[in-house]
Amino acid sequence: MNSSCSSRWWPVLCILAPWGLACDDGATPAADADVSTETEAGADADADAGADGDDESGADADADADAGPIPPDPSRDIRHTALAVDLATREATASIALAPAASTSASFEVGALEIREVRGADGPLPYAVEGARLDVLLGDTVDLVVSYSFPERPGTFDGWMRSGSTLVWPYWCGNLFPCHSDPSDGLTFDLAVADPGDGLVAVHPDAIPTDAPSYQLAWAVGDYGYTSLGTTSAGTELGMWTLPGGEAAAAAGTEGLVDAFEWYERTLGPYAFGDRAGPVAVDWPPGAIGGMEHHPFWHVDVLAMSLPLVHVHEAAHGWFGDAVRLACWEDLVLSEGTATYLAARASGQAIGSEAEAAAWAEYDRRLDAVFRSGDRVVLPAGCGEVDVLDDGLFSDAVYVKGAFFFRAVADAIGADELDRALRVFFSGHVGEAARMDDLLDAILAETGFDPGPLADAWLRNVGRP
Ligand SMILES: [Zn+2]
Repeated sequence: MNSSCSSRWWPVLCILAPWGLACDDGATPAADADVSTETEAGADADADAGADGDDESGADADADADAGPIPPDPSRDIRHTALAVDLATREATASIALAPAASTSASFEVGALEIREVRGADGPLPYAVEGARLDVLLGDTVDLVVSYSFPERPGTFDGWMRSGSTLVWPYWCGNLFPCHSDPSDGLTFDLAVADPGDGLVAVHPDAIPTDAPSYQLAWAVGDYGYTSLGTTSAGTELGMWTLPGGEAAAAAGTEGLVDAFEWYERTLGPYAFGDRAGPVAVDWPPGAIGGMEHHPFWHVDVLAMSLPLVHVHEAAHGWFGDAVRLACWEDLVLSEGTATYLAARASGQAIGSEAEAAAWAEYDRRLDAVFRSGDRVVLPAGCGEVDVLDDGLFSDAVYVKGAFFFRAVADAIGADELDRALRVFFSGHVGEAARMDDLLDAILAETGFDPGPLADAWLRNVGRP
């Protein structure tokens, strides 16, 4: 790992290959520093919104005057969001369906958006923008349409990036659409993307049909070509979207992908995000390499498209991290530790023992690096208390210590038995938020083996067990 990378920027994503991290060693541009300051305020609704925060709140002055103060309610459950985005104008509408509640208002994160109008079925709704939070007075409606514009972000991993794709993990969705970034608030999506540009293709799902975290939604624009990789026996077509010149690397990286995906379907349960899936090559800005679990069409940086383990890891997130999402950021190991373990397991079962051995050899090197210089507790107590970026939870420790925890459980009870427990847990929580403790309880209930001591050793403490 490159210690010169700031903790804020280097581990941007679901990174699998720290040896490949291409940190931008140059000074962070001033524009980036401004962006992080501005959007941090957005992540914390109570933070000082800054000098121009209050200027926006009169956007619908007439409605505001009639309504008086609008009580914030960031806890309203978002059930569905249909986004229609125009990339030429960067104008969009978000048609949002909320769960019924006693509350008559709702609040959304709108980080860097400019809100044009908020409408209900009967006309404009009163709203106010306080810093990075949109408050809407709903009355008794649960459906609203927000018209807004969204910015192109200057190369950072927090919205619509100049290099042609979006990324809003972990809590930047408010730079792309009105949202709740808390991963426990899952929702379904429709997505339409217009005007990608002459000769360019926008790759995205038309719908995400199972409740998903806000960070799962993404699109990518480029001169894409599509290659089908095959269809699993459950009927899921795997395919890859490549940029010109990237076909050979992508073919090498995805050679065993259909078999690995089929192993997930057979072992863990049906895929939750439709009948097509696969990787999209994206040209990320300097500072990261790896992939991001934008199921059904997960993104992989062009520098990582040739790496089979990256694809098998991102595919695993279709089950853990996406379909079963995090109840709290403190549970990040439920996503990354599980996907890292499963990538090695699926490689062995679907591709071959050499692939599995190579995965564990890589994890061994990374574990050594963690114990040399990056060790930390990867399953902290509490919920909603850590900042997953600023407090350093998002580091390679959560990936590899999580993987070795699961391997220790598999060594104790047998890998097949762990597979079975994971399947039972997945089928009981698909489309839901869960805690890592729920998975530990499920392993105990299903197998009779208490993984608690191994979780204490690998996840809740520092030092090599
Ligand atoms: Zn991951």
